[in-house]
Amino acid sequence: MRDRHGGAKIAGGGIISGNASMEGVEHSPHRACFRFYAELNDHLPPERQYKTLEKSFFLPSAVKDMIESFGVPHTEVDLIVANGQSVGFSYLVQNGDRIAVYPMFESLDVTSEQRLRPSPLRNPKFVLDLHLGKLAAYLRMLGFDAEYGPSFADARLVEISAEEHRILLTRDRGLLMYAAVTHGYWVRETDSRKQVAEVIRRFDLAGAIQPFTRCMACNGVLERISKEQAQNLVPEHAIELYDEFQHCGQCGRFYWRGSHYDRMRRWIRELASDTSAR
Ligand SMILES: [Zn+2]
Repeated sequence: MRDRHGGAKIAGGGIISGNASMEGVEHSPHRACFRFYAELNDHLPPERQYKTLEKSFFLPSAVKDMIESFGVPHTEVDLIVANGQSVGFSYLVQNGDRIAVYPMFESLDVTSEQRLRPSPLRNPKFVLDLHLGKLAAYLRMLGFDAEYGPSFADARLVEISAEEHRILLTRDRGLLMYAAVTHGYWVRETDSRKQVAEVIRRFDLAGAIQPFTRCMACNGVLERISKEQAQNLVPEHAIELYDEFQHCGQCGRFYWRGSHYDRMRRWIRELASDTSAR
């Protein structure tokens, strides 16, 4: 196969490139059918969604690359079934194959099949791209470890995700196509509050919310401090009005339960019940 591939390349680059491509057409390429399920269709243009899609190719290539050629990042895929058998990302697609591609299942029992995510990340940690600063702050408010830096370049985001086993949250599909990214998710919503609900639902995190345990500004873990300890460190009116104070050991910020606290708590309660009642 490799020889054929090399041969084709040489012909294509030579003086008879026109003939070479004609030859390809005459030999009629291989074909495989792909069907994408559930939210994987979000990555396809409307006219291609929820349809069997045919793919032509000359040489068998890895199913992972073929899936990404449709615009679907491999990180969104959890199960691939080729001709009724579950296969891995490196499976070489053959002429006549029928490939079904599934996203992460939330409730369907597929334990007997070959799941493609290396292992489900319990206690998930995140790293977010530069467009998702507000989402990062909200996730921290809910107690989730969310690394974010507006200056992180793409390569750095990929590196952090791989080295620290963080789920890469992004609005940029291309970022999820880096081979090093094993856990990533393309955020659909554009409104930051809706994004929070989306992420909680997608990763089934409603039960893991621990509100007000992380610094919204720097992702540091908050520690509770007494009113006495907070004296002279927080504004006087805060000491007069509130009893509970927290301190970020990482950036030094102080938090207390101001007027926004009840509003936030109501929202968190809604979020937890909305996303767990599916
Ligand atoms: Zn902090």
